[in-house]
Amino acid sequence: MRRPIHAGPPSPEEFQRQLQEFMRQHLSSGAMPKSDVSDTAETSDAETEPKSFTFDKKPRDIKAYLDRFVIKQEDAKKVLSVAICDHYHHVRLAMEGKDQPNYAKQNIILVGPTGVGKTYLIKNAADLIGVPFVKGDATKFSETGYVGGDVEDLVRELVRRADGNVERAQYGIIYIDEIDKIASASNAHGRDVSGRGVQTNLLKLMEETEVPARSPNDISGQIQAMMDMTQRNKKSPATINTKHILFIVSGAFDGLEKIARKRMREATIGFAGHGQSPSVDDVLMQAQTRDFIEFGFEPEFIGRLPVRVVCQPLDEKDLFTILKTSEGSIIRQYEQTFAAYGIEVLFRDDGLRRIAELAVAEQTGARGLMTVCERIFRDFKFELPSTLVRRFVVTRELVDNPPAELEKLFAEHKNEERTVARQIVYDFAERFRENHKLTIKFTEAAADKIVSESLAQGTHVRDLCATRFKDFQFGLKLIAQNTGQTEFQIDIEAVDAPDKALSEWVVKSYRSG
Ligand code: ADP
Repeated sequence: MRRPIHAGPPSPEEFQRQLQEFMRQHLSSGAMPKSDVSDTAETSDAETEPKSFTFDKKPRDIKAYLDRFVIKQEDAKKVLSVAICDHYHHVRLAMEGKDQPNYAKQNIILVGPTGVGKTYLIKNAADLIGVPFVKGDATKFSETGYVGGDVEDLVRELVRRADGNVERAQYGIIYIDEIDKIASASNAHGRDVSGRGVQTNLLKLMEETEVPARSPNDISGQIQAMMDMTQRNKKSPATINTKHILFIVSGAFDGLEKIARKRMREATIGFAGHGQSPSVDDVLMQAQTRDFIEFGFEPEFIGRLPVRVVCQPLDEKDLFTILKTSEGSIIRQYEQTFAAYGIEVLFRDDGLRRIAELAVAEQTGARGLMTVCERIFRDFKFELPSTLVRRFVVTRELVDNPPAELEKLFAEHKNEERTVARQIVYDFAERFRENHKLTIKFTEAAADKIVSESLAQGTHVRDLCATRFKDFQFGLKLIAQNTGQTEFQIDIEAVDAPDKALSEWVVKSYRSG
């Protein structure tokens, strides 16, 4: 189509769009339906890779492993362990050529507030099984894939996580957070159409599709692909089949509880009242497909996510347990950080309890622990490595008033620090004697003065001595030649005005010499 004459050159965005369109049409065809792809095995890099996948775990093995890291979420751990075992046993059978044709993939919806371990569960499960794992955010995807991100990018990212091994990527785990944000239920602005478009794109991936290993948005990659294809004997770019990729979507699903509760209430109309109404978690656990549809998901989309898991909010006790017992506790991280500077830190229970208490107020689940700890230990991390403090205890008092406790630590160690610093002054004198065969003796007051100055300026004692007394070796040598004197006392005046003192001594030595 011709552009009107007055339109001027295309904008960069328009140009990029046209170029991408051209590339899509001529080089690679986006997410192609399976039938469009001639035998993938022949075109894929996977051809050269061994087709083996070992998986011999039982649900209890997975749960036991998750228990080491993830506190609470008992139901979620059980349901996930079963779903993951189902999925990977199926993958193993498929790899062995024993495909189960009627098998429905165990894609999972994780419902729960932020920071309660949803990602953490999946990440640890992926680690245990040894499959690549990618996390994405549904709000970043646009319907067309031009802005923000493309859902297919997640699949390509899996390959990167699998160190370029396409076969391994093909049975990895894709985790998409904030899925509730692409629900297309009517809102204040009418129905959200783009959310529905993203659902459709995701649905394609969850079913089965071939994703080009090179992004249509990656222009240089596409040009490389074109050059490869024009050369004979070069393979066409690999595609990634999504059939065995496990999809896990998650979100807080605010409002879902209300929808499910309403349905449940309507269902019980006519029956006698059941006393107290069920808790939020109980209601969410009983959320049905139609509730998710009412929430704003397409029936086909939700139909591809048969496993429903609810993660519970974490209370203060849970957060304390996470700090104290989880193998991934942030406390271990702090211990290691300080240990790198030779500092030991001991977390006392009352300190941990107080951290948990403050973290609850953040209302971001276990993430609050990180925020609170960062706030408490920021200055400790900055200051302590440059001091002689070698160990400290995290108590409730410290958590409540970090600056005061830091000051206390400084005060306690100041004496120790001054003693060591004074020794460095004497050591300077000792080295001076060895190097120049002249003895300098610091009076106690002089040594103290140097220490005070070094502490105040934050400079090393040795450096301070070296600059301050840099001319002394020449001056004192001269005096020694004139008078034979080889021993000199450095008093506080000499520390304050070294050049003046030295020149006076030198002048005097000429007079007396
Ligand atoms: P979300 O539920 O939003 O996906 P994450 O799983 O990313 O939250 O949790 C953030 C961090 O908080 C995790 O990396 C982990 O360190 C900690 N955490 C969260 N929940 C738990 C839990 N139940 N047990 C142990 N640690 C947890």
